Amino acid sequence: MTRRKWVSILMVCLLCMTAANCVDGQDRGDRNAETRRPVDYRSRNFLVHTDLAKDDADALLQKMETMLKIISRYWGAPNRKTIECYVVDNLDYWPAGSLSPNVRNTVRQGGITIAQGARRGNQLNVNAVVYSSNSFGTPQHEAVHAYCYQTFGVTGPTWYAEGMAELGNYWIEDDTTVTAPDYVIQYLKKSPRKSIKEITDNRQRTGDGWQNYTWRWALCHFLVNNSNYYDRFRPMGIGFLTGRPSTFDRSFASKMEELEFEFQFFVDHLQRGFDVGRCVWNWKAKYRVQKGTRPVVSRIRADKGWQPSGLKVVAGQEYQFSATGTWRTSEDSAEVSADGGPDDTGKLVGILFMDYQLGRSFDLGIDGTFTAMNDGLLLLRCGDDWNQLGNNKGTISVELMSSEKS
Ligand SMILES: [Zn+2]
Repeated sequence: MTRRKWVSILMVCLLCMTAANCVDGQDRGDRNAETRRPVDYRSRNFLVHTDLAKDDADALLQKMETMLKIISRYWGAPNRKTIECYVVDNLDYWPAGSLSPNVRNTVRQGGITIAQGARRGNQLNVNAVVYSSNSFGTPQHEAVHAYCYQTFGVTGPTWYAEGMAELGNYWIEDDTTVTAPDYVIQYLKKSPRKSIKEITDNRQRTGDGWQNYTWRWALCHFLVNNSNYYDRFRPMGIGFLTGRPSTFDRSFASKMEELEFEFQFFVDHLQRGFDVGRCVWNWKAKYRVQKGTRPVVSRIRADKGWQPSGLKVVAGQEYQFSATGTWRTSEDSAEVSADGGPDDTGKLVGILFMDYQLGRSFDLGIDGTFTAMNDGLLLLRCGDDWNQLGNNKGTISVELMSSEKS
């Protein structure tokens, strides 16, 4: 049997920029405060050298432990080695020589994870050290990279490594809604839309600006939480990390149109509290053109996004709808019918979908008629803010008939 040699393969830097230049209030040096020096703090998985006050350092360690628990559970690989981090709140408190000039420069605007080590066959011996500003969750972001290096030896392609690190940054235990800060959401809503192909372009390099990180986060957040895709996304990601690489195109080849539609819908409706899992598109639903005396019947839940009515409409044709049952749009609000409350919250609304395009939504209610503007599939929902669906309760039954009898 030949003995394999240790092969030194890693000396990697990931430079991760934060949005320091787009947000005010960066210079938080409280010059009048009692002079501090960096102190060591330990938790189960981390050794942190930081000039943060003890309470802040303890809170940070707790956040990082939670993040690590969630992400290592997601990847199915427990952390086995202490992650060492230098977290800088105020550079003035760091004595000359305690950080290299390069690191000093880096932590002004973000963070860097430096990994060194070797691999022999399946054995990995890598140490990754985080140097990070304390702003914008950068310590959590960098700690995801460090965990990946020490556990897998790699972090995956740039879009994946940075998207998942941002996910780690924003992750809150038992909360799958959007928790990214407002500047991230505002940027994504205002900037020119990116396709999934652009976001996953393998020619991208790390440290290319916080704006690109927001798109990577959006895609990873969407794919981790949408049940139409997470069963493909997770193995693909684990493949990136464990040397069974796949490509995005190959993993999602048969679903790209559906995926692109749902991802763009997510960005259209992006806001804090938006819950991807509640707005998963039902691509398997059956729709039919209504004929004869048998109505098309569906049951619509108050706590979900657009749901199939089962009705395929024909342009110009009039349809009758009638809805029975009640629902409510918050824990303490009154039960309402499909007509909704005084401000129309809780009203039954519809939308037409055709060729991966959505029309404008329109009001329905308990009963009445509407005329289809074009051919398409009718979807229904309970009218409520898109980030407020989680506390809705109830289901309404809807019957649909064509007014024109043949
Ligand atoms: Zn990064």
